[in-house]
Amino acid sequence: MDYVKLINCMRCGMCLPACPTYKETFLETASPRGRVALIRKLQEGELDQSERLLEYLSLCLDCQACASACPCGVNAGELVAEFTCERKGGEGLSFMEDLILRRLVPHPDRLEASLVPMRLYQRTGLQKLVRKLGVMKLFPEPLERMEGLLPNLPARPLRQTIAEVTPARGEERGTVAFFLGCVMSLIFSEASRATVRLLSELGYRVVTPRNQVCCGAPNMLSGDLAGLKEAVRSNVAVFGGIEADFIVTDCGGCGAELKHYGHHLEGDPEAAAFSAKVRDISQVLALHQEELRAKLKPLPLTVTYHDPCHIAHCQGIRREPRDLLRLIPGLEYRELEAADACCGSAGTYNIAKPEMADRILARKIDTIRATGAELLATGNPGCLLQLKKGLAEQLPGVGIVHVTELLARSLDGAA
Ligand code: SF4
Ligand code: SF4
Repeated sequence: MDYVKLINCMRCGMCLPACPTYKETFLETASPRGRVALIRKLQEGELDQSERLLEYLSLCLDCQACASACPCGVNAGELVAEFTCERKGGEGLSFMEDLILRRLVPHPDRLEASLVPMRLYQRTGLQKLVRKLGVMKLFPEPLERMEGLLPNLPARPLRQTIAEVTPARGEERGTVAFFLGCVMSLIFSEASRATVRLLSELGYRVVTPRNQVCCGAPNMLSGDLAGLKEAVRSNVAVFGGIEADFIVTDCGGCGAELKHYGHHLEGDPEAAAFSAKVRDISQVLALHQEELRAKLKPLPLTVTYHDPCHIAHCQGIRREPRDLLRLIPGLEYRELEAADACCGSAGTYNIAKPEMADRILARKIDTIRATGAELLATGNPGCLLQLKKGLAEQLPGVGIVHVTELLARSLDGAA
């Protein structure tokens, strides 16, 4: 760990009001400033790695809201993640971690096959019955929560059905390579289909290589640096063979990770070139606003927008998604208070730290309620899962969509 990053903190406290866990606890140890101080003391050998101390650090969502607020460029979330990576790197992977991170996630075929039982569970009506009878309460809490987060799965993952090359409509202006996030393909395939359609409508030929693999974010989250580097090498090799203007993703989490490939494989020019081409879909669509405006039909809806941490804090993208929503004729856009505050999803945080995740989610739902909007738009699958569940339970009647899905509906004029 770079010690300079730790001593850069001048303890001003400007990050405190931005930190979701500090807002819930008002504990210094649950604040960015406190976390930086704890890691510094550990590095200096003044503190031991006690269970309690590790628990404080593990409460961090890695949402990076503190980095956006810090005047000194300190990123407490990243420092906690780096610390966790270094610590876990020394321990090695557990049996389950090895099974998931090395034998399942890097193999799209296996990952897709693993969801077949869930699809059957939904298609046969068993899920409805299980939920009606409250059977999941008999299972351990993490399983119950995972089941509760699961929305209706598409008939087939998008990776299996999408053409490897989608031609441009009309005159071709260029080529984009589409990075298909695992969760987007497996669960939110309609949103990614909308993404490809929008790019094609704007004159891009879209290449979606089937042999791409997970971006490596789950490995990063679990401190599996070797697995992460393997994912980076595979994707750099696959996408390196495509002559594309951009590598586009509609998954905020994947986008943030892909933009770090140059950092993960430091000194590798191909990884750096890969990262330089990565764009969130909103960045590419926002380049063509006038053309898009001419194609969009009215949608008489009141809509608000939640900034995913991986898009706003990690990639610094805030204006583009809002500009795109405002292009839709008839749509009334209402700004959300603290729109870039985390929703509590944060990878698997909502499973691992359910109590804190629920408190953070409830705060987010309150702000959505205050807008009076009938639809919430966002751009990251983790947020879609978490907020879909939160809205269904606490604010039924308010729907949730990916920004690209809403734009595609506007292309059809179908609210
Ligand atoms: S992390 Fe940044 S904002 Fe927070 S106390 Fe340190 S210098 Fe101030
Ligand atoms: S990453 Fe988020 S939860 Fe962690 S210290 Fe920063 S603001 Fe707080």
